[in-house]
Amino acid sequence: MELSLDEIEQVAADVVERGDLPTLGQEPSRTYRLGIMGGTFDPIHNGHLVAAEQAFDDLGLDTVVFMPAGRPAFKQDKQVSAGEDRYAMTLLATSDNPHFLASRFEVDRPGITYTADTLERLRAIYPENVELYFITGADAIADIVSWREAGRMASLARFVGATRPGYDLARAKSAIAKSGLPFDVTYLEVPALAISSSYLRERVRRGQSLRYLTPDAVTGYIHKHKLYGASQLGYGSKGAEGRE
Ligand code: NAP
Repeated sequence: MELSLDEIEQVAADVVERGDLPTLGQEPSRTYRLGIMGGTFDPIHNGHLVAAEQAFDDLGLDTVVFMPAGRPAFKQDKQVSAGEDRYAMTLLATSDNPHFLASRFEVDRPGITYTADTLERLRAIYPENVELYFITGADAIADIVSWREAGRMASLARFVGATRPGYDLARAKSAIAKSGLPFDVTYLEVPALAISSSYLRERVRRGQSLRYLTPDAVTGYIHKHKLYGASQLGYGSKGAEGRE
């Protein structure tokens, strides 16, 4: 069967749009579940990795795509590392897990990153038998009703709010209930989320070790590229540099 020029152009446009996203939905009689791990990941850490693994297991996901935000919507007044660095660290951190993927989908999109745009585009790419699960921190979920096109988002995906044990979910639950929007949210308690990106950045600034807090490849990247005030010396620990 020969394709017309228009059809070839359409296939090419679809390939470009899909980029590095996984292929899912091939078997029409089956439902697939795609996890989208949304975050700034500045830097990614073991708390994020454990949360995604827990979501994968508990919710029966087929795969989890880590999607570093390009220009995060609520961080226009804050300093955020370059998308390229955050993507590279995410790629390194996820590379040894067969059901994790890192995607440039948001990093490559110009302008401010709105989750509604991401979900809209994903919904257009995947057939109806692929369900979307947007996974992020429960703190972020608490603000979801104020995100752009919140009502639209509620119909495009299910949401997963990951948080450390003991975290008070009242704010998130009441904001969503008050909004009257039909958000479908699952909350996951993840002990490893005692770790946070700001804690890691602070440790790097102080020349302290990141071992067991994030994969060593991420620590290596941080020091190689001198992120968060890191020096190339003192890699992974204060080492001789920190001696009095
Ligand atoms: P944030 O406010 O920096 O994070 C809030 C809390 O959630 C922090 O404790 C953070 O810890 C944690 N967290 C963030 N992502 C997580 C994840 N995937 N798994 C577990 N914990 C996570 O949130 P953000 O990074 O800016 O945004 C989170 C996601 O929501 C992104 O995909 C972003 O694009 C989206 N978002 C969209 C809009 C919008 O469309 N208007 C607005 C805000 C956020 P760490 O700092 O350790 O990660």
